[in-house]
Amino acid sequence: MASNYAFETEAVHAGERQPAPDGLPTTTPLYVNSTYIYKTVEQMDAVLGGQTAGYVYNRYGSPTLTALETALATLERGAAAVAFGSGMAALHAALLLCELQAGDVVLAAHDIYGATLGLLTKLMDPFGVHTRLADFTDAAALAAALEQAPRPRALLFEPISNPVIKVADVKRICQMARRIGTKVIVDSTFSPPCLLQPLELGADVVVHSATKYLGGHGDATAGAVIIKDDARAADLRMISKLAGAILSPFEAHLIHRGIKTLVIRVERQCANAMKLAEHLTGHPHVARVHYPGLSIHPQHLLAGAQFRGGHFGAMMAFEIKDGHQEKAFRFLNALRLIIPATTLGDVYTEVSYPPMSSHREWSEAERRNAGITAGLIRLSAGLEHHEDLWADLDQALSAATR
Ligand code: PLP
Repeated sequence: MASNYAFETEAVHAGERQPAPDGLPTTTPLYVNSTYIYKTVEQMDAVLGGQTAGYVYNRYGSPTLTALETALATLERGAAAVAFGSGMAALHAALLLCELQAGDVVLAAHDIYGATLGLLTKLMDPFGVHTRLADFTDAAALAAALEQAPRPRALLFEPISNPVIKVADVKRICQMARRIGTKVIVDSTFSPPCLLQPLELGADVVVHSATKYLGGHGDATAGAVIIKDDARAADLRMISKLAGAILSPFEAHLIHRGIKTLVIRVERQCANAMKLAEHLTGHPHVARVHYPGLSIHPQHLLAGAQFRGGHFGAMMAFEIKDGHQEKAFRFLNALRLIIPATTLGDVYTEVSYPPMSSHREWSEAERRNAGITAGLIRLSAGLEHHEDLWADLDQALSAATR
């Protein structure tokens, strides 16, 4: 099919800009183009000026991103969502959205994800935005921290804490914050929307590391911010445009694909976590199990009322009896099926050793205070058959204590 152009020109343009098909694709195509062309420059001008809806440049948005962001806003019952290149980028954007100024204080949970604490203390603090920490599962301590001057401008916490799996009362915390006009950011990475919808409980902003449950397959790094107030949607988009930590179309596609099986994945993962927690409870080499589904868990009743579908989450932790690093390493090395990994929420069952990974920078005393003992193992239940998982845990525990 020769054209009137030179071969070099054909090589650049041939085949491109096909008309959109009549049939609507069932899933949103992967738009990898960085920019768009319009029939007239006037049309492009109207889109750039915001008079007409449309896409102009990938950093401002694309149909692939819009599809994912619509799904995120829908599932979290939000007015708008923006996807980011990682969970950390999403947390940064959520903090920027709170319009923090020098002298402001963010009140964060004392057991917040380590990198989140680093974001606050290493990147925000030099700009005069200070961080206070409190135990968000202790209502009296939280009330005192909220009253302390200067009152915090934003709260930041995770409903299921890492790594000792404590459960915070999201509705109550949001009510306490609302009374003093403080914004609430919930990092709901451990509690995807089929378990918990924090915006419905009064939160202003929900953040996810979509790398975890939302994607679910360990093959994409992404973050999401979902907001309750439609009036802030343009500000959130502006942050994404100007800070530029956007999500690539391919990863947006993978996360969106993962979301379609979120509900059935999480159901199986929660059921597996419950079975493993019950088995581990009676194991001779296990000193303690941290799982909200167990009646001995301090927030068992709260978790039962707060999480949707009668589930208790798929994250748990347990302490190897008379544990120390060498024993924990022997356990991790002995595993044949379960994967020692510094991530969670995947189809695979994964374990991590917090003193080596997430809480490596903490002193032994800090770890002890937070209940992170030298024998503590965090487990993210996957989709495998629970009997295979149990057999692997059992043999690795025996090998560790031999
Ligand atoms: N929030 C929580 C609770 C996490 O566990 C993580 C990562 O492990 C993050 C945020 C950061 O997410 P990402 O690694 O996608 O930047």
